Amino acid sequence: LASRDFHPADTVIKIKDVEIGGEQLVVMGGPCAVETPEQIDEIARLVKAAGGQVLRGGAFKPRTGPYSFQGVGVEGLIMMAEAGKKHGLLTITEVMTPEYVDVCAQYADILQVGTRNMQNFDLLRKLGTIQTPVLLKRGFSSTYDEFLNAAEYILAGGNPNVMLCERGIRTFETYTRNTLDLSAIPVLKQLSHLPVISDPSHGTGRRELVVPMTKASVAAGADGLIIEMHTDPDNSMTGDGVQSLFPDQFANLLVDLEKLAPLL
Ligand code: PEP
Ligand code: MN
Repeated sequence: LASRDFHPADTVIKIKDVEIGGEQLVVMGGPCAVETPEQIDEIARLVKAAGGQVLRGGAFKPRTGPYSFQGVGVEGLIMMAEAGKKHGLLTITEVMTPEYVDVCAQYADILQVGTRNMQNFDLLRKLGTIQTPVLLKRGFSSTYDEFLNAAEYILAGGNPNVMLCERGIRTFETYTRNTLDLSAIPVLKQLSHLPVISDPSHGTGRRELVVPMTKASVAAGADGLIIEMHTDPDNSMTGDGVQSLFPDQFANLLVDLEKLAPLL
C-alpha cells in the first residue's frame, strides 16, 4: 500500500486548510517539549507570524535515560491544543504507546511516531485503526525497506494518512548527532506516494546546520519540514536546545524558503 507501483499519484493529506504532499511546502515548528502554557503560547505566536502551518511540541518525551525530564504529559497536550487554536495552527505531538493514542488524537491534529518507536508494531497497529494523520519517523538504524514496511502496518490497518519523516541515521560520524540522509528524500518519493518530511533538527543536532540542511531538504524534494525552535534554547527542558533555532533564525529561514520554492 505504501508503494508507488500500486498507487502512482502522490498522496495529499488535507487537514483543515493545510495540504501536506501537494503544492504547498509545510513547515512544522516549535519546541522539543511543551513546558508551560506561556512558553507554548509564545512559540505558537512566533511560528504563525513566520508563516508556519503546524505547531510541534512533545508532551510525552522518549528520553535515553530514565531520570531525564519525561515531558509534562496530558497537561501538555491541553496547553498545546489551546495555543494551536488561539494562533490558527495545526498541532503535532509524539505518541509512544497504544494506550495513549486516543487521548493524543483527541488533542492533536497529527500524531508523531518517534525514531525509537518506528518498529513498535502494537503502536503502529493501533494507529492503523484511526484516521488521524501520522508522521512516522525513520528508525535511526532502519533501511528504506524497513521504514516503508513500518508505514505499511498503519496503512494496512486502514489509516491512509501517513507521512514519512527522515530525521537522521546513526553513522560513524560523531560531530553531528545523526547524519541527515538527504538521499532518503528522493528515494522515498520514488518508492512511495506518501508525503516526505525532513527533520534537520534531529538530523544534525546542531543549530548552525539546521538552516543549510533545511534548504538542502527542500531542494531534494521534501514536502515539508519539522524544525525545533525555542524562545530560550539554553534553558529548554530537554537537551535539544543546542539544535533549536532562535525565533529570528526561524523567521528568516522561512523567508528564504519562499524565495527558494519558485526555483524548484
Ligand atoms: C522529537 O521530535 O523531539 C524527537 C524525540 O524526535 P526523534 O524521535 O526523531 O528523536
Ligand atoms: Mn527533540
